[in-house]
Amino acid sequence: MVFRVSSPRRTLCTQLTSSSHRMRMIDNAPIKRIVQGRLTVEGYSRAAVQTYWRIPELKLGFDLGAQPWDFMGTSPWFVSHTHLDHIAALPVYVARRRMMKMEPPVIYLPEQGLELIRQILRGYQRLDRGRLPCELIGVRPGDEIELSRELVVTVSETRHTIPSLGYVVWERRRKLKPKYAELSGAEIRDLRLSGAEVTDERRIPLVAYLGDSAPQGLDECPSMYEATVLIAEMTFLSPQHRKDKIHKHGHMHLDDFVERRERFRNERVIAAHFSTRYHNRQVRSFVENALPDMLDGRLYLWL
Ligand SMILES: [Zn+2]
Ligand SMILES: [Zn+2]
Repeated sequence: MVFRVSSPRRTLCTQLTSSSHRMRMIDNAPIKRIVQGRLTVEGYSRAAVQTYWRIPELKLGFDLGAQPWDFMGTSPWFVSHTHLDHIAALPVYVARRRMMKMEPPVIYLPEQGLELIRQILRGYQRLDRGRLPCELIGVRPGDEIELSRELVVTVSETRHTIPSLGYVVWERRRKLKPKYAELSGAEIRDLRLSGAEVTDERRIPLVAYLGDSAPQGLDECPSMYEATVLIAEMTFLSPQHRKDKIHKHGHMHLDDFVERRERFRNERVIAAHFSTRYHNRQVRSFVENALPDMLDGRLYLWL
């Protein structure tokens, strides 16, 4: 299914400007940031704790395990799956935007969870005695979501213990068809006026988000290996944690990255969602032992 978001959405109401300074003072959830080229990745992710990401330049986010106050101006949001550490803050996000008089957010999520999340929101509306206006859109593998002329999001299947999805954000560019390369500007204009399609669409994968998944989720969506930035999970690292069991529970192990090291074409590979059974220094030492070159310096541990 192809979704089109019709008009550019107004994200901030003018009434907000007087309070925007005060908004920035609130620090309710940790945010880590890195800049990769023209993209910034912000967020936090620890297994069974909370996961949330935002790419401010693309004006979108992934997962709602918690919702930093600073993130509320962003919409749409893409939810990978309905485990609580990835979705618990959905009602909070919707309620905050209503309170701050912002447009209702658009939230994409696996279609299997759609009706239950609607019921939960109805329950909260009664408990909280406040409306929770939002546009919830159920999606499935193979869907394409047109965010704007320049941006498209594709949806892929991932492997977890419940229905789960990965997302790739693509930039679309129009490029003159090679057969017209020799023509002058005036000739191309005449062709265009006559109704001919003079350009081809070129898609560049900017950001891929795996969510929680066994390695098949990556392997079955090759563009994840091509995206400028890949946000992946590396829940388990210790050689003592058996890979087959980890895969059965829909997660990745450090060894899965080692096995696939030649496949990553990304400028940046973010590994996140580490299990809380590891201290940060243990995470670093497991990875430095297994991948001393850190994938030619492209691997970044989200600690
Ligand atoms: Zn998780
Ligand atoms: Zn999960």
